[in-house]
Amino acid sequence: MTGPRCRQVDGAVALRTYCKKRIQHIKQQRDLHECTKEHRSTSIQPVEPISDQSVPVRFMCTLRLNTFREEMRRGAEQDFHEPSSCSACLDKQADLAMNFFLRKKRNQLQAQLLQEKVLSHLYSKDTVCLLGEMLKDMPKPSDDPCEIWQRLMSTERPTLHDKK
Ligand SMILES: [Zn+2]
Repeated sequence: MTGPRCRQVDGAVALRTYCKKRIQHIKQQRDLHECTKEHRSTSIQPVEPISDQSVPVRFMCTLRLNTFREEMRRGAEQDFHEPSSCSACLDKQADLAMNFFLRKKRNQLQAQLLQEKVLSHLYSKDTVCLLGEMLKDMPKPSDDPCEIWQRLMSTERPTLHDKK
């Protein structure tokens, strides 16, 4: 059995052992202190402290294991975020897809519209421009007939020269 109760018992035993050793060590040191007071004249060197005054390895291992188990338990309790089943994420994804679709569609329509405008401009330009150019060069009824003749002669001469 390695349940939490068993771990508590393990820890308690280890802690009791550790405390017992510490008390023994303190008693030993006190005895040594009294001994040196009594025999002040004689030079008694203090006994080396007991080597095993650190926390027992077994106790440390139990603590480490308990901490590790606790971390594992907490990690397992945390529910992981699953975007495929999260409504907020799915909504956001749908929003982005819609935005992308609309942007693409708008660009396509704008390109189409521009193409149509260019074509209609090219088609209409010919007739309109020709008509405009014709009207611009046409003499008005109010113009002086002499001037009209002069203009006609002056515009025809270069063309005649060009053809030669
Ligand atoms: Zn989410």
